[in-house]
Amino acid sequence: MPELPEVETVRDGLARHVTGRVVTGVEVLRDYSVRRHEGGPESFRGQLVGQRVGAAVRRGKYLWLLLSQEPAHASVRSPLPDGAAPAGDHVTALMAHLGMSGQLLVRSGTAAVDKVPHLRVRLELSALPGEPGTPRTLDFVDQRTFGHLSVTDLAPTPDDGPGGWGSALAEIPEPAAHIARDLLDPALRRDDLARAIRRRRTGIKRALLDQRLVSGVGNIYADEALWRAGLHYARPTDTLRLAEAHRVLDAAEEVMREALAQGGTSFDELYVNVNGQSGYFSRSLAVYGREGEACTRCGALVRRDEFMNRSSYTCPVCQKVPRNARW
Ligand SMILES: [Zn+2]
Repeated sequence: MPELPEVETVRDGLARHVTGRVVTGVEVLRDYSVRRHEGGPESFRGQLVGQRVGAAVRRGKYLWLLLSQEPAHASVRSPLPDGAAPAGDHVTALMAHLGMSGQLLVRSGTAAVDKVPHLRVRLELSALPGEPGTPRTLDFVDQRTFGHLSVTDLAPTPDDGPGGWGSALAEIPEPAAHIARDLLDPALRRDDLARAIRRRRTGIKRALLDQRLVSGVGNIYADEALWRAGLHYARPTDTLRLAEAHRVLDAAEEVMREALAQGGTSFDELYVNVNGQSGYFSRSLAVYGREGEACTRCGALVRRDEFMNRSSYTCPVCQKVPRNARW
């Protein structure tokens, strides 16, 4: 499942290759992939064709493209530097949820739709003014079909900060309005978050995975962060010292930044890709997926527990089971 660093890599690719283009055509090859769009596939198409793509924005694992209506007789209009729409335009968003296996692929030219395995939705995009070569396509490819696309309205952010990374616009798609800021977000109030975690009466891993508290920390990075911080996943949050809460948040940010640094360089110029579980970061993981292997810090054997219907990996020495553990 794509986690924050993978989604950020996709956002960055979209910002570079899609921003500024006008949607000239939409093909929905599988209606199920637009099931969250109110009004169905026809409405989805109607709300996309003629829209100019602005900034690519991300909060946690939520990703969206800002859209504004291209005037009918537009002469050449360059996108604003940060990809925002000019003031006064009605701005909507194309939200992409990648699910387990979703990919967004930007291509130059058009591969026939029946030549692209698991292609669910295709957007045809205009060339940029003065750009040589053929127009682009943005393909949503999704083998397991857990992902989906929808066009939605925006709502003001509750804290008046930017909706997410990638645009200064203080609005967020309505379906993501309940999602907390993530650890890479400059507008995150880190100290408020650490205190909010300590007020919870739960285990630290459950708190890290709660998207209403902090977004974008998935199962893999939660386990890695807890190992780095030397805390067991069942540690009661209300027994954490403030410094410990900060330690685990710092560790989570650090591990995601490292993953991002590794993922950001391995993509072809015109190929924006998320590749599910075969993560490029896997070689750097200290505990996740390493059951029975030696902890790189102390040599004890990494153990795997069933937890929240998933696996949790810990070092039994570096991450002692706490008293009053909250499973
Ligand atoms: Zn250890």
